[in-house]
Amino acid sequence: AVRDPLTGVFSRRSGEEMLELLAGQAARNAMPLTVVFIDLDHFKTINDRFGHAAGDQTLKRLASHLDALLRHSDILCRWGGEEFMLLLPGTQLDNALQLADSLRLTVAGVEGGGALPAITVSQGVVQYLPGESMNSLVSRVDSALYQAKAAGRNVVVAG
Ligand code: GH3
Ligand code: MG
Ligand code: MG
Repeated sequence: AVRDPLTGVFSRRSGEEMLELLAGQAARNAMPLTVVFIDLDHFKTINDRFGHAAGDQTLKRLASHLDALLRHSDILCRWGGEEFMLLLPGTQLDNALQLADSLRLTVAGVEGGGALPAITVSQGVVQYLPGESMNSLVSRVDSALYQAKAAGRNVVVAG
């Protein structure tokens, strides 16, 4: 499927296909391409405390808050359970870091209350290196995200 059924953002499969295409274009045209790996903090605890249905609602709410801050050319994918990959063609690392920080602040500013919890996200950000493999790019952004988690969460780390 092109879209993730729960959140309506692109599926991982279509994200991987678009990433391949965008990386080829970025290399050929000497244009920047940056990716942001976004992971909901302590989601397991959210499920445990509020229930799986509230967890699902939280994912939907997160995806729509992220989507609202993006440009048309930005591509948001659900990469795994509570992990989203954002593809930013034409965007340099500096600008991607600014965007990631505004996503971070917006998400952290969304109030909980009622049946849904307040949330934060951790993010890794890397710029594509022309010629590198998708495995390399994804592994670099995964390491940056891991560092953001290790730094205490609700943090953006450039890789
Ligand atoms: P961290 O801050 O380190 O990311 O901790 P975490 O709890 O977010 O990460 P962890 O990988 O331990 O747990 C992820 C949880 O996400 C576990 C799994 O049950 C839940 N999950 C995955 N997909 C879905 C889904 O579609 N709906 C709901 N409600 N939960 C999901
Ligand atoms: Mg995760
Ligand atoms: Mg998580």
